[in-house]
Amino acid sequence: MNTAPSTYVQRLLPLRMPRVCLAVTASDPTDLVEKAESLVRDNPFLEFRLDYLSRPGLALPKINHFLEVHPHAVVIATCRRAANGGKFKGSIASQLDILAKAAGAGCQLVDVEMQTAAKCKPEQLQKMRQRTALILSFHDFRATRKLEETLGVMRQHTADFYKVVSTATTLYDNVTMMKFLEKESDRHSLVGLCMGEQGLVSRVLGVRAGSAFTFAAVNLNEQTAPGQVTARELQSVYRIEQVDAATRVYGVAGDPISHSLSPVILNTAMRRENVNAVYVALHAKTLKDLLACVRDIPIHGLSITMPYKEAILEHLDNSDSHTAKIGACNTVVRAQDGKLYGFNTDTAGVVRPLEQRMVIENARVLVLGAGGAARAAVWGLKERGAEVYILNRNLATAQKLARQAHARTAKRADLKKLAFDVIINATPVGMADPRESPLQENEINTKYVFDMIYEPAETRFVKMARARGAQIIPGVEMLVHQAARQFEIWTGKPAPWDDMLRAVAIALQERAAKAVHK
Ligand code: NAP
Repeated sequence: MNTAPSTYVQRLLPLRMPRVCLAVTASDPTDLVEKAESLVRDNPFLEFRLDYLSRPGLALPKINHFLEVHPHAVVIATCRRAANGGKFKGSIASQLDILAKAAGAGCQLVDVEMQTAAKCKPEQLQKMRQRTALILSFHDFRATRKLEETLGVMRQHTADFYKVVSTATTLYDNVTMMKFLEKESDRHSLVGLCMGEQGLVSRVLGVRAGSAFTFAAVNLNEQTAPGQVTARELQSVYRIEQVDAATRVYGVAGDPISHSLSPVILNTAMRRENVNAVYVALHAKTLKDLLACVRDIPIHGLSITMPYKEAILEHLDNSDSHTAKIGACNTVVRAQDGKLYGFNTDTAGVVRPLEQRMVIENARVLVLGAGGAARAAVWGLKERGAEVYILNRNLATAQKLARQAHARTAKRADLKKLAFDVIINATPVGMADPRESPLQENEINTKYVFDMIYEPAETRFVKMARARGAQIIPGVEMLVHQAARQFEIWTGKPAPWDDMLRAVAIALQERAAKAVHK
């Protein structure tokens, strides 16, 4: 079998290839090439998905012209058949004909599915390789399994890159993919990643495990595979071009997790402070799956969110006094010996924004709610010497917390007569239904209102409080300060909290704008 690269193009290609290949789709050839024109300056590595065109052949002269005008561009031509997960409905012969013509038009790489390769004569593929580099690809749309056996079958065909793409149904599937890449990439040029929302880790870290490159979408409406993230996200949030063997891995784990803003906030901090680290969203459907990943990736630190803040406690080797009292952990440090230490930084998320505005000692604070966030607020404020009152829908829960933290309970009926320095909303009331508020206007007698809800930015409660003359502390400050404290615990550096706040404010504005346009 001839395994040597057949032309100098294949030998030189790896030197020219960035880590991210942008998948470009359009329904007509003019749009396809115009889109490529708009992208190529920032993204010189493009995949033209010819199978998205009703007549792919018509695009080839335009692609030829594009490559003449942009000699620095590296282009993969893909015309995936519908049977293998693409959109091309033609025969294998016409698929190969289009790909051969794409090579003739100057595309430096073509993608041929293993199922197509199995049906054609070896000479056909070798002829193609005389003009272009061949990516032999295999996609498993259901699971991550038998990766080495699959590669063994693929190796029956000589190719320049072997692309093995699976679907992550657990977080641990990312570990399986990365172990496969680490083991096999010394011997073969591989591209490997897991599709699906749970495959994000492999898309970010696969390149350091040995994947020659990875794929990204132009934007989220133009994904060519489930779970594909945008090039912008891979480059500016996850800094994929800088990820190397020394890069530390952190993440936020929860279920669901796709809406978490923590990756934006903490990657901003890592970048700003030049910490060689990446912070990823980990969609953990079980704690067992998460803990197996933490051990094997290895992950240096975790933010823990719903629904695991309490359940994680029994898996920790130790925790700080806060965490044990509050009964919830939102931060984990994995020590070098693999031991897990827990912290609760939600207290800092409440205390720090207040400290920036007032003296907490002896301040009268009313906390609405007695759940996890309220507990962090009550304990944090009591430690700073505040006089804390708790009001909760379920009185018994409020009484229990008040007893434990040496705080007091408040009666709703008394609120009109009582005045506070701060009222903190630690309930979700006003989040899903903007007409709801945890208090009526005449019950808000306070200097400051701190609403933990940050989406929407202006709840009814906040509007009423402003009308009553109260100063507002937005919930996003809690989000940022709890993350800032996490950053300090993990890195030992002061957190650039004002940059973190700016980054999350922009992300929230973009999200709100998108919601309006939907
Ligand atoms: P949790 O543990 O589920 O507690 C929810 C609390 O709200 C409970 O005390 C519950 O009362 C009360 N509650 C729920 N629905 C209510 C309703 N319809 N009317 C009156 N009270 C109601 O939740 P959590 O983790 O503490 O979170 C609470 C809020 O804080 C959420 O909106 C969350 O998004 C927000 N939060 C924000 C940040 C941030 O960074 N800004 C951080 C953490 C949490 P019962 O005891 O009677 O059920």
